[in-house]
Amino acid sequence: MARYDVSRAELAGLLSDQPRYRVDQVWEGLYGQLIGPEEMTTLPRALRDRLAAGRELAPALGEVTCSVSDRGATRKWLWELADGARIETVLMEYDRRATVCVSSQVGCAMGCGFCATGQAGFGRNLSVGEIVEQVVRAGAARAGRPANVVFMGMGEPLANYPRVWSAVERLHDDLGISARHITVSTVGIVPGIRRLAGEALPVNLAVSLHAANDGLRDRLVPINRRYPLRDLLAACDAYRRAKGRRLSFEWALMAGVNDRAEDAAELADIAVPMGAHVNLIPLNPTPGWADTGSAPRVVRSFRDRLVSLGVNATVRRNRGTEIDAACGQLAAGAGRLAG
Ligand code: SAH
Ligand code: SF4
Repeated sequence: MARYDVSRAELAGLLSDQPRYRVDQVWEGLYGQLIGPEEMTTLPRALRDRLAAGRELAPALGEVTCSVSDRGATRKWLWELADGARIETVLMEYDRRATVCVSSQVGCAMGCGFCATGQAGFGRNLSVGEIVEQVVRAGAARAGRPANVVFMGMGEPLANYPRVWSAVERLHDDLGISARHITVSTVGIVPGIRRLAGEALPVNLAVSLHAANDGLRDRLVPINRRYPLRDLLAACDAYRRAKGRRLSFEWALMAGVNDRAEDAAELADIAVPMGAHVNLIPLNPTPGWADTGSAPRVVRSFRDRLVSLGVNATVRRNRGTEIDAACGQLAAGAGRLAG
């Protein structure tokens, strides 16, 4: 249990010897002002000290490092959790609108070979509080709740469904981040996508496609063997219909692997009928994978080809690569987490 794992009812229990309005004050401090009990000057000193000393409202994240790049526009935190595990969070500012990229697990079990997190193996699921606190800490650092949250850090969010979803509800209900500004990115866990379609909050769904045929996708994204494209696309279509939200496909461009004209044509065949947006990002090289990212010229011509085929495609700027902060290739500087 940590600061952002505590529910309002649990907080009321902690403050049962206090006037009732103290619950609102502490909740407002945590979720409105983004501060810990030690900074809540609205509370009497003795209560502040008691809450600050107790374990119940202790922070879950200990800052190991915070690196800044892009002239201050990108910040990456490396956090240590209570059990010593490490995760990362990235904050990006575009035109004064901030996006926080959060981790949902320590490592990842999905084994995508090109991904630094996948190469590290699986550690454990993050708790609700460990997820929510990433957003709060990033918000506190910029003096304001971020506008957007993307689940594109370490881990596969739909493999930690209950906690990720409770965190989404907390971000929405208590931090006030609108569902249309929350994006869950998945490698393609079909039952998770179907479950997401049944939730009340219409969050954005991003699917890491990377290949538009099963042969190549089996190799790049091993979970495709369990949930092949046909099933994945049916689930995506169901999500889109249930939510009325535009879907997006992530496509990490690898030189000579998925950046050729025929790859664009295959991708367009899938994206056009679904009205999906395609996010292109040149692969960030990692030590454990031989393919390299497509050259800028190839990235542009791939995008132009998609656009000429009627696809809404954009190139995601590869932010913060100089500090290894690019969202989606976080490794916490770790070696393998699991055998
Ligand atoms: N597990 C989820 C979310 C975290 S990964 C998922 O896979 O969608 C976030 C994004 O970063 C995914 O689209 C993933 O494919 C991408 N990614 C991982 N490694 C990358 C790399 N080396 N270069 C570029 N994108 C990468
Ligand atoms: Fe996990 Fe996503 Fe990396 Fe694949 S790309 S290993 S699902 S974090």
